[in-house]
Amino acid sequence: PPQTPHHVHVLSQLQDMFELSTSQLQRIVKQMLWDMNRGLEKDNEAIKMLPTHVCHLPKGTEAGSYLALDLGGTNFRVCVFTLDGKGGVETRQSKFMIADAVKTSEGAALFDFIADCVKQFFVDHQDTLSNGVNHKWKLGFCFSFPVNQVSINEGSLLVWTKGFTASNVVGENAVKLLQDAFTRKSLNIEVSALVNDTTGTLMSLAYSKPSTCAGMILGTGSNCAYIEKIENIIKYKGSREGISEMLINMEWGGFDDTHIVIPRTKYDYKLDSDTPTPGTWTFEQLISGLYLGEIVRIVLSDLADQGDLFENCGASPELKKKNAFETAYMSKIEIDNSHDLIKVKQILEVQLGIKHTTLIDRRIVKSVCALVGTRSARLAAAGVAAVVTKMNKLATPGCIVGIDGSLFELYPNYQNRMRSALVEMLGMCADNITLEQARDGSGQGAALIAALAEE
Ligand code: ADP
Repeated sequence: PPQTPHHVHVLSQLQDMFELSTSQLQRIVKQMLWDMNRGLEKDNEAIKMLPTHVCHLPKGTEAGSYLALDLGGTNFRVCVFTLDGKGGVETRQSKFMIADAVKTSEGAALFDFIADCVKQFFVDHQDTLSNGVNHKWKLGFCFSFPVNQVSINEGSLLVWTKGFTASNVVGENAVKLLQDAFTRKSLNIEVSALVNDTTGTLMSLAYSKPSTCAGMILGTGSNCAYIEKIENIIKYKGSREGISEMLINMEWGGFDDTHIVIPRTKYDYKLDSDTPTPGTWTFEQLISGLYLGEIVRIVLSDLADQGDLFENCGASPELKKKNAFETAYMSKIEIDNSHDLIKVKQILEVQLGIKHTTLIDRRIVKSVCALVGTRSARLAAAGVAAVVTKMNKLATPGCIVGIDGSLFELYPNYQNRMRSALVEMLGMCADNITLEQARDGSGQGAALIAALAEE
């Protein structure tokens, strides 16, 4: 059936709300550059620009076995990385789900859970690891939250993000909390590095590709780290002797929380008001996997309430339930190119309990996913443009941006959409930037930083 003029009107209104033009993206880049400079000057700015105390990229010759923990995404991972000294790595890992009850409990309970997972890891891998749980392990702790890093193995949590709220952790040294839990559980492990996932991603890709200059996350959350000249890090109070550059963990999730450059929709406001900390980390809400599906659900629910969608069947109770629509469904919906949108029909029926959808309904649902997914990719590209511009690497080829996360890896067209936005913003200079998948690099990077800390 043809779309009615009314539906065309509904879609064009949504386009007006969600689409970002090239010039809007260019303004966003300019504002981000401005905020990056502010963050390098002073603490507590919109983009925190946290010094990581990591001042050297790996040489590729680092060797030995290291433990790594990766906390801050959907799964919690315990890994052992065996570095062969030639850029090669052997990995063993166990994944654990962290229940919301643990994320929101008391800090000591969260860290005890982590220590128990480490014990379980050694049970899982006892047959293949040459060193067992009693070996004196060095550990890199990938802790993907904003941290005020005091040294390579000391840093206090500034604020929880991504649905974590465990008490008595903000303001505390995350390394000490973990080390204390290991002591309580009689584990002979030394936490020798505290690392953000963006920093870890950059380092792990640089182990095999030395021209890596930034590490980015497009998964549960979104953030970026890059290499900054030490003289530009005005607020850095530590010794600068023998240091020419340092990795900066941007914590860009807090960019534009005051809504200066990025147009927000009423749906974004609704999403934000239902988070544990409204008004904060709103850039991340526009981009990352934890939120995109929920934005789509809020839009669909509103359209149904207005009588513009699911007119035959009405909204289901499921559609009204917070987080009932996963970001992964958007991938499945966007990849459905069948004439009748069969896959879209199935998802709406099975996952959301909405039966008897029309083809027009399904087309609208697919368009909403495309609008929300495209906005995310274009904002992520604006971030890349800002970072590469900041490093002065636009004019010469060879800047590799390592990107980890399911959105970049699995969401159809995400990479193409980022690429087109880069070309729109930067023209030919976009060719000088390589966006490279860096799968599960954060833990490996944490292990590498633990290895470097020993030298
Ligand atoms: P993390 O960032 O937690 O380490 P991921 O990179 O896998 O892990 O990101 C998880 C996020 O990606 C979740 O928010 C999930 O909704 C989303 N996600 C998982 N699979 C897909 C997919 N196929 N397409 C789009 N998003 C996905």
